[in-house]
Amino acid sequence: MAHLADRLRRTWGLPMRPEEVLKLLENAGAIRQGHFELSSGLHSATYVQCALVLQYPEHAEKLGRALAAEFHDIKVDCVASPALGGVILGHEVARAIGVHAIFVERNAAGQMALRRGFEVKPNDRVLVVEDVWTTGGSTFETIRVVEQAGGRVVAAGALIDRSRGRLELPVRAEALLDLDVPSYPTVECPLCRSGSEAVKPGSHFARVSR
Ligand SMILES: [Zn+2]
Repeated sequence: MAHLADRLRRTWGLPMRPEEVLKLLENAGAIRQGHFELSSGLHSATYVQCALVLQYPEHAEKLGRALAAEFHDIKVDCVASPALGGVILGHEVARAIGVHAIFVERNAAGQMALRRGFEVKPNDRVLVVEDVWTTGGSTFETIRVVEQAGGRVVAAGALIDRSRGRLELPVRAEALLDLDVPSYPTVECPLCRSGSEAVKPGSHFARVSR
């Protein structure tokens, strides 16, 4: 019977509590505290780089299963993610659900598009997955691309929602972790005011001292 229980868990995914998700991310260095200039230009005391946790296949698989579990009650035919940040997680969510994973990426004109022969069948029920929602821009674009291709986006999921409740997607949305981290324009940044200098991690993620 244990074997059956394992199989069911594998199929439906394994839920994770937000505290568990946070701990996993912190242990992998994917969430760091300091003084950062984000790609938006805003300053924040917290920086998130999901690639640092997703680089470990066992963590990626566990998080993918947990995110898949959030959608156990809906039928999904395909997972679609925005490249590059959503690709690994989307792949793992698709593995947990037992469907295929595709991604959208910029074409030569700079527009998000399905390339590489990826297709969405008419009325395919698509789950859009990405790593972090800040404005949700990549998820909005992925939804648009999938729907233009004829698919039906039934829900969207992310590892982290750092929109502070402001994100309003046109579909059901679930994130494993709500990260309520304020960010400030430079002139209003309390960390700058206290005399420290912001680190610009970008996609290289400079090592920072705590
Ligand atoms: Zn600052």
